[in-house]
Amino acid sequence: SAPQPLTDLSTDDLAAFLAAQQAAYADLVASGLKLDLTRGKPASAQLDLADGLLGLPTGVVDAHGVDTRNYGGLEGIREIREMFAELLWVETEQVVAGGNSSLVMMREVLTDLMLKGGVDSERPWSAEEKVTFICPVPGYDRHFTLLEWFGIDTVTVPMNEDGPDTAAVAALVANDPSIKGIWIVPTYANPTGSVVTLEVAERLASMPTAAPDFKILWDNAYAFHHLTEDEAKSADILSLASAAGHPHRPIMFASTSKITYAGAGVAFLAGSVDTVRWYLGHLGKGAIGPDKLNQLRHAQFFGSPQGVRDHMVRQRAIIAPKFDEVDAILTRRLGGLGVATWTKPTGGYFVSVDVLDGLAARVVALAKEAGIVLTPAGASFPKGDDPRDRNVRLAPTFPELAEVTAATEGFATCVLLAAAEKLAG
Ligand code: PMP
Repeated sequence: SAPQPLTDLSTDDLAAFLAAQQAAYADLVASGLKLDLTRGKPASAQLDLADGLLGLPTGVVDAHGVDTRNYGGLEGIREIREMFAELLWVETEQVVAGGNSSLVMMREVLTDLMLKGGVDSERPWSAEEKVTFICPVPGYDRHFTLLEWFGIDTVTVPMNEDGPDTAAVAALVANDPSIKGIWIVPTYANPTGSVVTLEVAERLASMPTAAPDFKILWDNAYAFHHLTEDEAKSADILSLASAAGHPHRPIMFASTSKITYAGAGVAFLAGSVDTVRWYLGHLGKGAIGPDKLNQLRHAQFFGSPQGVRDHMVRQRAIIAPKFDEVDAILTRRLGGLGVATWTKPTGGYFVSVDVLDGLAARVVALAKEAGIVLTPAGASFPKGDDPRDRNVRLAPTFPELAEVTAATEGFATCVLLAAAEKLAG
């Protein structure tokens, strides 16, 4: 028979259900698991796919005659910039290839904005009375902690399936000049898997803002990280903004952290030519050039933009079964009971689960007690504060499939126990 929502159960049936969940949870704790579903890291099998890098580069001179062993070339070597310009739908002149972390580039950009102001700023952001950022939630915890570290205020808007709630965003930016920017993970967002549609991107690119130097920090960390054959194409935010008369509004970030090596990839920044010049001008005060040898190694390893896409198909073969497993278990264990909803992402690294209001922290604590480490409840919200205490982020890529199975089964047990406690209490 079809599962019945727990709220439909009689008092006696609910008591019996609670007792059954308590027994299941006791068994789970007794089984002595030691599992971790916290961080979105590639599994070793995924890293192995890129081990061809270890035998590269062949030669040390790039296609344009640059000796990559030497100083210089702050913007990165031309062939890797060309390759990712094509992949990200921008011009080569609009792309910087940097070090191994796009998050570092995001911090640099915010530092430059605070200390110097952007190309379209009236003054440094630090000279403003107040700086506020719009944070679509749930979102990426490191975006939020970065803002907190700068003392930048946050205001949240809902992250919908098609991207941030544009009506809420447009209303916020229209009248308040302290609102200087918004974080967006446009493709397969962390953690919801949302993909920003062309319509949403157009609205964000063209909306009137009280701040003349409003920034869209477009973090396309998962641009090519498809989990199905239906490959989402990221909206071309730079062209849209340019066409709307706001060429300096978006600054785009991407990296090969989850394409090749998470700790030794290549990161990218893209923006208007003026933005690129602005960024490099500041970068040049502290660097003479990036690790061009690693960039050359990556250019040779991929061979072409298609090489990147082909590589991601091999990545998908390793991780898609893990996402399928999470969905199958949640559907079988929780489906129809009215205790949780969850995303079925078509790309990216996460599954976002909403349990009943007020239960996320309880579920995470129960899981911890049972040896299953989950991302702390609230992590996907600024200041770690999920006002409804309901969101839990699952990251199934790193563990082996058997561990994903055990951890998700255990998680489902914790969700059921917490829900039964709440409803019976
Ligand atoms: N942005 C998002 C949305 C991420 O999820 C991550 C990794 N968890 C990063 C950026 C980090 O990127 P990088 O490794 O290039 O610093």
